Amino acid sequence: MKLLIVEDEPSLREIMVQTLVREQYVVEQAADYASASDKLAAYDYDCILLDIMLPDGSGLRLLEELKRRRNRAGVIIISARDSLDDKIEGLELGADDYLPKPFHLAELSARIRSVLRRHQRDGYESLDAGNVRLWPDSRRVEVAGHPLELLRKEYDILHYFMTRPNHTVDKAALAEGVWGDHIDQVDNFDFVYAQMKNLRRKLHDAGADIEIRAVYGFGYKLVRP
Ligand code: CA
Repeated sequence: MKLLIVEDEPSLREIMVQTLVREQYVVEQAADYASASDKLAAYDYDCILLDIMLPDGSGLRLLEELKRRRNRAGVIIISARDSLDDKIEGLELGADDYLPKPFHLAELSARIRSVLRRHQRDGYESLDAGNVRLWPDSRRVEVAGHPLELLRKEYDILHYFMTRPNHTVDKAALAEGVWGDHIDQVDNFDFVYAQMKNLRRKLHDAGADIEIRAVYGFGYKLVRP
C-alpha cells in the first residue's frame, strides 16, 4: 500500500517516513503545496497524510483538488493548529480523519490502518477472492484455509490486485503502486515480470482458484476462471 506524506517540517516528516517504511508501506513525501499538487496529479495513493499549514498554501485546498478529481485515496489531516474550524472544514471537504499534532506514531499507524480498512475492505479485517484470503494488518495470506508464504513484493502485488478485483491493471501503474513513484524513470519492467511469475506459481501450487492473468499488450487482471 502506498502512502503520501505532505508535511513541511523535516524532522516530523522524516520520523513518519521511517515509521511507516518499517511497517512495510511504500512511502512517498512532499514538503510543500506545489510538490504535493504535482504528485497528486501524477500518481495514485492509498492514503494521504495531509498537513494543513504548508509554506506555499493550505492543505485544505489540496483536499478540495483531490475531491474535485474524485480521487479515491483515504485522507488523514494532521494539523498543529488547534482549530475547530480547520477540523470541521477538513471533514466537510471529505477527509476521513483528523489527527492533531503532536501525536504518537502508534496512533498515526492505527488511524492509517483504520482508514484503509474502511476504504478498501468496507470495514472487514480481510480481503477475499475465490479461496484466497488476505489480512492486510498482519500481511498474512491463506489459500483454502492453509497459510501461503509470500515474499514481500509478491504479497504487495497480490494485495494490489485483491483491492482491484476485475480491473485490468497497467503494468506501470502496478509497478508504481508496489515499488513507488520513482518507477516511472525505469525503461523496462523485468523486475515486475520476475515477481509476478513467482507469485502466480505459488498461487497455482497452493491450489488457488484465482489467477492473475496477463492481458496482452496492457498488463494483468485478477480473475476467477
Ligand atoms: Ca506545517
